[in-house]
Amino acid sequence: MTNNSTLPPPAHVPMTHFAEANGELMINGLPLSRVAARVGQTPFYAYDRSLMQARVAELRAALPNGIKLHYAMKANPMPAVVGLMAGLVDGIDVASAGELKVALDAGANPHEISFAGPGKRDTELRQAVAAGILVNIESFREVGLLAAISEELGYPARVAVRVNPEFELKGSGMKMGGGPKPFGVDAERVPQLLAEIGAAGLEFEGFHLFAGSQNLKAEAICEAQKKSWTLARCLADHAPSPVRFLNLGGGFGIPYFPGDQRLGLASIGDNLSNLAERTAKEMPQAEIVLELGRYLVGEAGIYVTRVIDRKESRGLTYLVVDGGLNHHLSASGNFGQVLRKNYPVTIGNRTANQAREIVSIVGPLCTPLDLLADRAMLPKAEIGDLVVIFQSGAYGASASPQGFLGHPPVLEVVV
Ligand SMILES: *Cc1c(COP(=O)(O)O)cnc(C)c1O
Repeated sequence: MTNNSTLPPPAHVPMTHFAEANGELMINGLPLSRVAARVGQTPFYAYDRSLMQARVAELRAALPNGIKLHYAMKANPMPAVVGLMAGLVDGIDVASAGELKVALDAGANPHEISFAGPGKRDTELRQAVAAGILVNIESFREVGLLAAISEELGYPARVAVRVNPEFELKGSGMKMGGGPKPFGVDAERVPQLLAEIGAAGLEFEGFHLFAGSQNLKAEAICEAQKKSWTLARCLADHAPSPVRFLNLGGGFGIPYFPGDQRLGLASIGDNLSNLAERTAKEMPQAEIVLELGRYLVGEAGIYVTRVIDRKESRGLTYLVVDGGLNHHLSASGNFGQVLRKNYPVTIGNRTANQAREIVSIVGPLCTPLDLLADRAMLPKAEIGDLVVIFQSGAYGASASPQGFLGHPPVLEVVV
């Protein structure tokens, strides 16, 4: 039996991507208190433009030339963020007609927009065909509908097939492939689907495989990419035309919790170089696409909320802040996740404070689930100070129940 009692408890990786100066966190060169004054209210989300740019540059440097990067905008659909990403990456992945509108308004090139989702309504498919974007077909129903729409509008729908593979991305926070799934069409039924796409005269462009999300293990991601490539290579023999689009998914995770480490890109780059070489030989017209959401924007964002009260209760100090679960569901633990863990957090205007204390940070909602930090060691804070939740650039404002309990909505700014 091993005795782990001497090991230090797992800690968050340091959030050094945000600089500190004069005891304050800096957001793209501006002190947090100044950003807060500019915004004019708390709570708010702030997204650091320079960090998003740096993240894309870092990825491009680590991956072989020719790999296309798409932004899955459900991670953060704020129009200014989508506009910024549209200028940085090679395409935008949307999952609804609402997202499609934001992407088009932001200036994304329709030819480089793709649309996935298990329940596309007739009107959404029609909008997609009219916009000239690529539709990732996820059911036999969509083939017939797209054929009718193409005939009505007078030009063929551009389509790819979303494949539900027989494997999944190991160790993912969220599995989206393998076994029965509502996403895509089971791999064994894809040859029949491809025949129907050919018969319907749709413009077939390739395959979309997405095996899972929030993965911090490079080997697992490499394995899923290899298996996805091999499956696409097999299915290509049944396709009505050569594969031009080969979306191998994403799943790149970011460290949220104590003990999580940052994902290393070196082996993923090597693996993709290998797959790119094989693609050049065996599917020479195909471009490999990665679709990433949180990896591109998650670390660039913070949630900022102000301390409105300090309370002691039977030996525990509470900081009560002006926003919580209603704005940032995932940091609160998603309505009671089985084992709740803290996101990295700090007092953003007191980073140099030597005096530290253990506090729990709770939002203003009248429910014990409104917890942003459970007994965290932080710089000593006073009423009026700014609590910062890191790793908040993805699945924040748009993924939270803002109407719950009737508090004001959160603002979002790009800095
Ligand atoms: C949600 C989703 C993504 C983005 O996932 P992240 O974990 O944010 O990278 C990409 N592709 C598809 C198909 C998705 O559903």
